[in-house]
Amino acid sequence: MRKYVKLDLMTRMLARRSAWGIMWILSFLLSVVSSDAAATPALTKTCTDLCRGVPGLKPAECQKSGLEPSGAFSTNGFPILIKEYPPVHSRKPQARILVIGGTHGDEPATVITVLNWMQKLDKYHSGVFHWKVVPLLNPDGLLKKKPTRTNARGVDLNRNMPSSLGGRGTYQRWADKTNRDTRQFPGLKPAGEPESKWLVKLIQEFQPQAIISVHAPLNVVDFDGPGQAPTQLGRLRLRRLGNFPGTLGNYAGEVLGVPVVTLELPSDSIPPSSAELTAIWTDLVKWLKAGIPVSHPDSAPAKKVTSQGVAAE
Ligand SMILES: [Zn+2]
Repeated sequence: MRKYVKLDLMTRMLARRSAWGIMWILSFLLSVVSSDAAATPALTKTCTDLCRGVPGLKPAECQKSGLEPSGAFSTNGFPILIKEYPPVHSRKPQARILVIGGTHGDEPATVITVLNWMQKLDKYHSGVFHWKVVPLLNPDGLLKKKPTRTNARGVDLNRNMPSSLGGRGTYQRWADKTNRDTRQFPGLKPAGEPESKWLVKLIQEFQPQAIISVHAPLNVVDFDGPGQAPTQLGRLRLRRLGNFPGTLGNYAGEVLGVPVVTLELPSDSIPPSSAELTAIWTDLVKWLKAGIPVSHPDSAPAKKVTSQGVAAE
């Protein structure tokens, strides 16, 4: 019962989108994401730091979430947290899957969604897939007094990935096509931000065979890269939004040849209902089981990518 009262309060907080409200939500969410993982010294330190900036969050609750510092930090020095669901026993996972939320700091519903799915993985991870989950890529944007889409330096992290146009081309496209929209500022250098630089490194090291990226509020499923796109996940239906240089979809999907599902939730501040979150997750896992890894990618082999763009070869 107490949890329902808290959820109701959470919805109202999200509607108001006050900084305190978002911190309260973070503290509540971290408290309900359960795990048996023991706290490492690194996690203990991160949780202590996190508690200084998140009123009401208890270090013990943070440690129970199983999230760990990735070793990377945001522009303002906040640790980017990650949780791995590794192979189980001797079972060879069908594929490696990367899940990312909170790329845009003004989309707290995406963080809540990914944390909800972590609860499901905590209970049901069976080893079919090897997961890495990053619920909040842009902590600086989310924790600002007035949360922002961009990171602390005003860069849209979903326009700052290496692209087929190279750095100059991405910047020029932004200048020519978006009327220099500050919300979509790609930065002056691809992967030039600590958050995006780390994401590129994570992709290079983990070599995911599919990426799930959660955004809002367009209320569709978008897809980039090889393989069969999911036609519907929960109530979200497939609608291809086009491919923009500097996005994760462009980088991983088109340049590297890794299928990228971009979920656009219906609201940036209010997460889908619990039933809808379960429906999306169930459909997503079904889709992954049926088609990932892609056995016959219809795109060219992955190209070598540098922080400046696609390498000449
Ligand atoms: Zn977004």
